[in-house]
Amino acid sequence: MSKRYNVLKQSDMSRFSKDLENAIYSTIKDGINNSTYEIECPDCHKSFKAAVAKNICPNCGATVNLDVKF
Ligand SMILES: [Zn+2]
Repeated sequence: MSKRYNVLKQSDMSRFSKDLENAIYSTIKDGINNSTYEIECPDCHKSFKAAVAKNICPNCGATVNLDVKF
């Protein structure tokens, strides 16, 4: 689905930038949700790959919450 904008029209221009903003925002959000991060366990200080939300340290079994805010 493609959208057409008339950037010379003020209303279209603001619609365009709003859509662009939303597109970037959801891309970032998807990227965060699908990514894993190398984090350090606060208990045993070993690093492991963690996804967003709750993770269990593979080394000591501690629960580590990974919360990405933006
Ligand atoms: Zn640990």
